[in-house]
Amino acid sequence: MPQLSPRITQLNEGGSDGWEVFYRARAMVAAGTDVTELTIGEHDIRTAPAILDAMHEAAHGGHTGYAMVPGIPALRAALAQRLTERTGVPTTAENILVTPGGQAGLFSAHMAVLDPGDAALYVDPYYATYPGTIRAASGRAVPVQTRARDAFLPDPAAVSEAAAESGAKSLLINTPNNPTGTIYPQATLEALAEVCRDRDLWLISDEVYDTQLWEGAHLSPRTLPGMAERTMVIGSMSKSHAMTGSRIGWIVAPAPAIERLIDLATATTYGVPGYIQDAALFALTRGPDLEERIAAPFRRRRALALEVIARQDTVTAIPSQGAMYLMLDIRATGLSGRDFADRLLDAHHIAVMPGESFGRSAAGHVRVALTVDDARLDAALGTLCAFAESLTHE
Ligand code: PMP
Repeated sequence: MPQLSPRITQLNEGGSDGWEVFYRARAMVAAGTDVTELTIGEHDIRTAPAILDAMHEAAHGGHTGYAMVPGIPALRAALAQRLTERTGVPTTAENILVTPGGQAGLFSAHMAVLDPGDAALYVDPYYATYPGTIRAASGRAVPVQTRARDAFLPDPAAVSEAAAESGAKSLLINTPNNPTGTIYPQATLEALAEVCRDRDLWLISDEVYDTQLWEGAHLSPRTLPGMAERTMVIGSMSKSHAMTGSRIGWIVAPAPAIERLIDLATATTYGVPGYIQDAALFALTRGPDLEERIAAPFRRRRALALEVIARQDTVTAIPSQGAMYLMLDIRATGLSGRDFADRLLDAHHIAVMPGESFGRSAAGHVRVALTVDDARLDAALGTLCAFAESLTHE
């Protein structure tokens, strides 16, 4: 065959995409092994029947043709209202583009702000798709390292330095954070906003976990002075409404940026199916009660997990305030996160994600997704801790 573009062959820098343990666990499950899967950020419940009914009705009602590319007006209006209420930043339908999931939003936002070869900053550890997303948009992916002892929060001075060195056009942040479970404090966000203003960066703010808050509050950096005009917020129904498979999310941005993003959507996705948008609108009109009900199991399991971790001192947890994950420091075992995860899977049929899958900064850590029932999680974490302890005697 003729050559493929380096853009696509180098999407993951020709190396691994960091998901081998996940795929290995899935293969074991397919072969009949009972694996406790604490890997992927997927709820252990399915989309609520009432939302599926709304989808079914919309489809049978005829909403199966091409939907309007920017999103149906009622959904854009509802999202604008929700954002205005939750953030206090006046937001209209012209600030919203409905996208097929947050992932499409992340890609589109980078396409909108990067020319080929432009540097784009992101914080390490990061959600696994970030560097590939930037490269897919022909950008140069530049990670900013963080430290476990800072709970992996970005140091604004390091971000500023990286921006100056690379000539970056954008900074991508994620709070509440996957994989660390931290929520960026206001002071960090203010300092990062200052860096963006000083260095004339776009801030791409991934807020897909903004309904999973266990401690403290979520602050959208779009609310900070001078930031609405240089921030693109990525939102999604995936986590908030257990609608991962429906592929529905949005970008919030200045209206002139949304106009251009609509051009991009016209040239790529051509919008999101109308019946999915109708179902999303229905789900949003259920209000925060439904969101809280979907978040509740993770809130409960995080508390339970912290209790298990507190009973021993080989494994420690990065202080977490949100999202459906816990990042565990296993450096006392002397193993890398990858080796630990491999050995845990082989010895105990428990699958966790190696910290290294999320970047260099999280080496010697593993990420646990709080996505199995309480009893199973309790047992798995107990086993994980005992296994870590046994390794310290090797
Ligand atoms: N951002 C983060 C941090 C995520 O964890 C995910 C999904 N795991 C996404 C974006 C993408 O979500 P979706 O495309 O399903 O909206």
